[in-house]
Amino acid sequence: MKQSFVNCHSPFQVNHLKELIYLAPVVDREKCKGCGTCKKFCPEQSIMMKGDKAYITIDCVQCGQCIPECPEHAIH
Ligand code: SF4
Ligand code: SF4
Repeated sequence: MKQSFVNCHSPFQVNHLKELIYLAPVVDREKCKGCGTCKKFCPEQSIMMKGDKAYITIDCVQCGQCIPECPEHAIH
């Protein structure tokens, strides 16, 4: 008999679920001045710069540490 069971811990399923429940903070591109302060405070190195704007990658663990560090209040 062919087994159709799918391991619930497979990397594909974990990543898929992570995308479905992705509640990371977002950067307001209008307010961001590209100072890079948030990037320095992220313990997961999940903040990247694109041009003169910050953006948060899918590696974010939603700890929230970057939010109060932005001098422009651009992360929420
Ligand atoms: S700290 Fe704020 S203004 Fe500075 S790069 Fe990050 S989001 Fe932009
Ligand atoms: S919420 Fe935490 S892990 Fe996510 S980008 Fe901000 S500091 Fe990094």
